[in-house]
Amino acid sequence: MPPLTPLRQYFQSGATRPVGFRMAQLKKLKQAILSHEQEIYQALRSDLNKSPEEAWVTEIGLVIKEINNAIRHLPDWVKPERVGTDIVNLPSSSFVVRDPLGTVLVIGPWNFPFMLTILPVIGAMAGGNTIVVKPSEFAPATSALISKIIQAIFPPEYMLCVEGEGAVVVPELMKDFRFDHLFYTGSTAVGKIIYKMAAEQLIPVTLELGGKGPCVVEADANIRVAARRIAVTKFSNGGQMCVSPDYVLVHESVREQFIAEFKKATVQFFGEDPKNNNDYVRIINHRQFDRLTKYLAEGHILMGGEHDRERLYIDPTLMDQVSPDAMVMKEEIFGPILPLFSFTDAKEARQLIQQNPDPLCFYIFSNNSKTIKEWQEAVPAGTSCINNASWQFTNHHLPFGGRGASGIGKYHGHFSFETFTHPRSVLKTPVWFDPDIKYPPMKGKLGLFRKVIR
Ligand code: NAD
Repeated sequence: MPPLTPLRQYFQSGATRPVGFRMAQLKKLKQAILSHEQEIYQALRSDLNKSPEEAWVTEIGLVIKEINNAIRHLPDWVKPERVGTDIVNLPSSSFVVRDPLGTVLVIGPWNFPFMLTILPVIGAMAGGNTIVVKPSEFAPATSALISKIIQAIFPPEYMLCVEGEGAVVVPELMKDFRFDHLFYTGSTAVGKIIYKMAAEQLIPVTLELGGKGPCVVEADANIRVAARRIAVTKFSNGGQMCVSPDYVLVHESVREQFIAEFKKATVQFFGEDPKNNNDYVRIINHRQFDRLTKYLAEGHILMGGEHDRERLYIDPTLMDQVSPDAMVMKEEIFGPILPLFSFTDAKEARQLIQQNPDPLCFYIFSNNSKTIKEWQEAVPAGTSCINNASWQFTNHHLPFGGRGASGIGKYHGHFSFETFTHPRSVLKTPVWFDPDIKYPPMKGKLGLFRKVIR
């Protein structure tokens, strides 16, 4: 394992603190990403069979957008924020100063192996930290490329990429070194392990985890649009997306129409024979493939269902007649399989959602604002869309993160900068005013205290 103390020393030298330094590194990263564009496409094709178009929209483009936003706003973000001062402290003035955290660890997942690893790194750079990056070993081509890019453009005392098996590498990294923050994206199960390891050393964490994101289609929704938006986000990236709709609850009165429109949309997007669509994303590995294909026996297949282990291919699949007790309703699906339930009574539908509380996302399709409000209030979730799905992730003006089992903390845009800095409270007091009232003896001052402090 490479030594980590140089990263702490580099941070403590103050080298990463000037805005000019942070901007220069962000620009360097952007340039390197653009000049490695073709290699990134190749890596994502190799790891997930991602097409360049999908790779740009969901990986490279998002990262470039995030860097551009950070470069544009960093000079404002770092300015001390003047806040009010209460009467007791007048004539002091008060500020919130954003301090860099120190040396931080960013652990990435395999599903968007480039974007979900680099996006938090951008926040960490904007925050003025030194950074250790641990990409996912399950996307080996992308992991190797991230390591290559980082090594090529940054000295190891500023940013270090460590590859390898997470269960080995992360405890090893944390054994003799106390990180100042840990940013983890991945499964809830591993998130718990990370949280425990961090707790041992009182390290603050951001945990971007998963969950079963429900999607509700009400009777008054635009069914064609709902079907199209759900189909595209459920089957993009082979459904291996933390914000994809996990299952859909459709009002009984529009069930048949929804199924017909959903099938039509899927054919339109991925072709009559998605098996031979070279741009349809594959399942990451055989372990995930075997887990997913077991779900197919847990209901009645309405569309798709075919699979090919050798090619890690699973049809875009819609199924119904699924028991709420089935495994497919107990675990996050994270693949191109969509269970469909119909409901007439919203209360019953909410009971099913309650089986897996606090999802990362909740989607409601309806044209009635009262219905939408009722659903939003009834289903606590990390993030949401109304008449849409998954796109909330791409708007850097919105904080992204879970609640409860789906995560701790938030990031994207300015929220990333907040995550990777500490809001230091600063009270500045002039010396020309130093009244005795503030000093002992206190006897006889109670009346005045009661007047001023209330
Ligand atoms: P994962 O938990 O298997 O691995 C993620 C990272 O953790 C990898 O870098 C891996 O090396 C490391 N890791 C694995 N075991 C570890 C251990 N014991 N100790 C320390 N590190 C370890 O997650 P994944 O399978 O790559 O990602 C899929 C999951 O991530 C899904 O549940 C999905 O919902 C979730 N996810 C969440 C978001 C989000 O933004 N909230 C985004 C993408 C994926």
